[in-house]
Amino acid sequence: MSWEIVIGLETHAQLSTRSKIFSGAATAFGAAPNTQACGVDIALPGTLPVLNRGAVERAIRFALAVGGELNRTSVFARKNYFYPDLPKGYQISQYEAPIVAGGALTILAGGAEKVVRLTRAHLEEDAGKSLHEDFHGASGIDLNRAGTPLLEIVSEPDMRSAEEAVAYARTLHALVRWIEICDGNMQEGSFRCDANVSVRRPGAPLGTRCEIKNLNSFRFLERAIEHEARRQIEILEAGGRIDQETRLYDPERDETRSLRSKEEAHDYRYFPDPDLLPLAVSEQWIAEIRSRMPELPAARRARFESRYKLSPQVAAQVTASRDKADFFERSLMKIDTETYPEAPRDLANVTVGELTSQMNERGLEFSQSPVSPEQIGRVQALVLDGTISGKIAKDVRKAMWEGEGDPDAIVARRGLRQISDAGALEAIVAEVLAANPRSVEEFRAGKEKALNALVGQVMKATKGKANPQQVNDLLKGKLSG
Ligand code: ADP
Ligand code: MG
Repeated sequence: MSWEIVIGLETHAQLSTRSKIFSGAATAFGAAPNTQACGVDIALPGTLPVLNRGAVERAIRFALAVGGELNRTSVFARKNYFYPDLPKGYQISQYEAPIVAGGALTILAGGAEKVVRLTRAHLEEDAGKSLHEDFHGASGIDLNRAGTPLLEIVSEPDMRSAEEAVAYARTLHALVRWIEICDGNMQEGSFRCDANVSVRRPGAPLGTRCEIKNLNSFRFLERAIEHEARRQIEILEAGGRIDQETRLYDPERDETRSLRSKEEAHDYRYFPDPDLLPLAVSEQWIAEIRSRMPELPAARRARFESRYKLSPQVAAQVTASRDKADFFERSLMKIDTETYPEAPRDLANVTVGELTSQMNERGLEFSQSPVSPEQIGRVQALVLDGTISGKIAKDVRKAMWEGEGDPDAIVARRGLRQISDAGALEAIVAEVLAANPRSVEEFRAGKEKALNALVGQVMKATKGKANPQQVNDLLKGKLSG
């Protein structure tokens, strides 16, 4: 009998505010240890937290983006535990009344759409960081990260494979960047996932889960889940049972290790923080934020499919980031799509293929592209009006990446104009026919493919500049004459 894997994710998205959630200290990454921690962050007695409005606004944007319910009143609670990087002895979080309840995310996995339900999203502060390297046997504490605003987003246990979990994490990652609440930088820890994994026989109640902490890459997330599911299945098949625990994934050894047995909520002695008032959000504020929301990825994808006739796959790839979708639509502005209804599909393919690999190679976002969307659109317009061939368009773009400037200038300077002059082409066609008697014979004997070889020879002789349709017509005319 087979096993079913069940996964729920808890994701910490660092909110992109300049200052911390309860203090005015900076949140910038990479500062020297303890230079961005003020009295509130290091828990000096007598200091008081003041809530950062920008963090709340970002949580509201998230609620609107996932169709979650915005609690008009939410409550900050103290989650009590001891750890050297937590100077207050408690973390300020939200427990019974989180700011966002419910909502959902539609993911695309294995070629099918699936809705993953969200349980909640709450605001909390990050802890500091223990540094275990280079202290002559001692550990250091860096409190720069203490008090950094986080939105913890909790999913229902709706995912059934590592692939679905990764699709969920990627969709969520793209969304928080799209709505500009988190920079999504995974190397710097701005977006990290805890994976809750259990296995069961299909139809059986949920099994006991283990939680794998702090996965900061999609590949680690996938491998950790696969590894953990396999470990649990082996134990169960050998007649053992799973202990609920918190585990760590070790990428070097590609395995998960027990960190501690799972603590229960009551261990934390949650209670409402008396230093902070309940958080009330007004209808007016919500309405104002709603009016500034961008078109969301799912809506944009659907619009690209219906308006530009893109396939669901290509539409999903073009809307992988807001930057990329914007670039694509701006490149289209140079083109009359009424006259050339297939142009958007061609440009979408260029965007998800060639342009995306150019950006990846350079480590750039589409918004930082050295070649503008208008220039990319102009190249396509030159193909559509017959000035250059589709093949030459590639060379023109290559020259643009190499910094040669505007497409029109490149075409003029390099003499790339398509040869549509019948006289010039006819001479070349005659030469090619004379030089390739065997292909001519084959074609006359009924081998249609021989024509392609001849077209290829003409294209070669013109360095790709001949108009392929015209070459075809000319050849056919000569061969049947
Ligand atoms: P905690 O804060 O103790 O980690 P929750 O009970 O709120 O816990 O659950 C946290 C996450 O674990 C959620 O994402 C939820 O979907 C997931 N989860 C709960 N039960 C299971 C299970 N049996 N198997 C896999 N995931 C689970
Ligand atoms: Mg948890």
